[in-house]
Amino acid sequence: YDWVPETVKEKTVGFRRNKKIVARTPKELDAMQAAGEIVGEALIACREAAKPGVSTLELDAIAEKTIRAAGAKPTFKGYEGFPGSICASVNDIIVHGIPDEKTVLKDGDLISIDCGATYKGWVGDSALTIEVGTVAADAKALNEATEWVLMEGMQAMVPGNRLTDVSHALEMATRAAEKKWGYNFGIVDGYGGHGIGHEMHEDPYLANEGRGGRGPIIQEGSVLAIEPMLTLGSVDSVVFDDDWTVASIDGSWAAHWEHTVAATADGPRILTPRKN
Ligand code: MG
Ligand code: MG
Repeated sequence: YDWVPETVKEKTVGFRRNKKIVARTPKELDAMQAAGEIVGEALIACREAAKPGVSTLELDAIAEKTIRAAGAKPTFKGYEGFPGSICASVNDIIVHGIPDEKTVLKDGDLISIDCGATYKGWVGDSALTIEVGTVAADAKALNEATEWVLMEGMQAMVPGNRLTDVSHALEMATRAAEKKWGYNFGIVDGYGGHGIGHEMHEDPYLANEGRGGRGPIIQEGSVLAIEPMLTLGSVDSVVFDDDWTVASIDGSWAAHWEHTVAATADGPRILTPRKN
């Protein structure tokens, strides 16, 4: 994927230092949120269906049906050849898992679902991790902590900050979460968030860690998809032969939470809200 840098640090350090992240008008933010709310509906439908015995392909069908019923298109389907409407990533799969009928959920699994919808020319992108039945204590901590890191880290998404202030906030939140939950977490190396608008992946790339104060300036109306990916072990990952599935290199479990977030004068605004 050309939006994922060869070397995260190279691309982020000094990334168009004085450039600003494109700003959307309030009307455009409303239009983006309309797309984002459809993603939220699809994710809730998947969460309600994610029970032992259900395959990830069934979840994919549920998401696609929800998106199309709302008059939108599943952004992922056909994106760079991806076959699904969701990425379904179970346990040690971090992201980009391909939905299939052989992957059947069982009690104790963690499944991360990432979904995008295109509506009236705008894209929403959001992800969550679901606990299937009763999960182990460390998996539960990982999941809760990753959601918390997203909500904490996105507080840096305010006008006047620079891109890597968000990266730094995500890293600091991760370190704070380790103390709060009592586990060590790996911040997955080489994957992160991104600009978003008419396309799902727009500039700039947003690292999930690093020193703050660098990169383009966040303006009122700038939008980023913010998406921490944490593991219970290694920061390193491997891509399977299908060229999509990203697994942790040590088999440790992963969680992934994402919102499309706008910087506004009133603070960060989530454009992919979910009812409940
Ligand atoms: Mg996503
Ligand atoms: Mg994304």
